[in-house]
Amino acid sequence: MFEMVETCGLCGGERFDIVYRDLSPARFEGPGGSFGLVRCRACGFVVLSPRPVAGAMGAYYPGAFYASLSPAAGGRRGPAALLARGYNRVFFPPSLRRLNACLAIVSSAWPRPPGRLLDIGAGEGAFMEAMKRRGWDVSGTDVSAEAARRTSQRLGATIRVGPAEALAFESETYDLVTLWDVLEHLHDPLRVLRRVRSVLRGGGRVLISVPNFGSLEARLLGSRWPHLDVPRHLGHFTAATLGAMLRAAGFGRVRVGSSARVLSGNLLSGRVQRLGNASRRLWVRRMARVVSDACRTLSMPSNRVLEKMLLAQSLVATGGP
Ligand SMILES: [Zn+2]
Repeated sequence: MFEMVETCGLCGGERFDIVYRDLSPARFEGPGGSFGLVRCRACGFVVLSPRPVAGAMGAYYPGAFYASLSPAAGGRRGPAALLARGYNRVFFPPSLRRLNACLAIVSSAWPRPPGRLLDIGAGEGAFMEAMKRRGWDVSGTDVSAEAARRTSQRLGATIRVGPAEALAFESETYDLVTLWDVLEHLHDPLRVLRRVRSVLRGGGRVLISVPNFGSLEARLLGSRWPHLDVPRHLGHFTAATLGAMLRAAGFGRVRVGSSARVLSGNLLSGRVQRLGNASRRLWVRRMARVVSDACRTLSMPSNRVLEKMLLAQSLVATGGP
């Protein structure tokens, strides 16, 4: 049911330091277990260890678990958990915002006409649908047969079912392969990235987002960081380890940046409706205005510093074959 990680999934190193121990599963009443995070001494890649073996992961993904795509701090009690939940409620982007963030990443990384897309971990297919509307020939994969069936019927597109590690694709078929918040769920992300590289046509691109383990929020919240998402998140990336893994998979032109999606006023305005009280709504709108004005007037370097230091929840990476 559980296994210790003996070999680093990035560099093959065999010596690890303990980052956190005795982490229990977050967010729902599922099978128990005691987990930990370890960091490779050679390359710094952080992984869950012990972790469930691949065949046991299903028990930790109850039905419709990922429908909301919004992590919370689960049933934990105490001030830290409360803070984590409140923080998360304010800062974790709702799914539409997330979709728009993904589409914006595509726009900047792919200035060419639409081509063939493979979306790994397609879920309910919101991203595939938006890309199809933009003229892309879309296909996808997902671990959930149920989600794959619904998405496939709705879009008339092929969705293959299975873990990304086990899926076989034709070589040099796709212009764009996307893994939105997928890589951190994989037992062997390097193997999948190697495969992704081989299915890209010349000039193709992989686009990746993962939670940013190097962000200040991850450091401040420590073992309460919602994106630890024990035991579903098996690997935790920093800009350095994500870039290193892409290069190890054979990608060139690797670029890794951080995304501070929370830095726009949109998030706050989007949440205003839920607050109910009129004066509170006004107050939040004013705050949103102040935040977005401040960000606009900041010079680029300070803006980048802010992004990197404070609010960079996500890492976004691109690479080509
Ligand atoms: Zn390593």
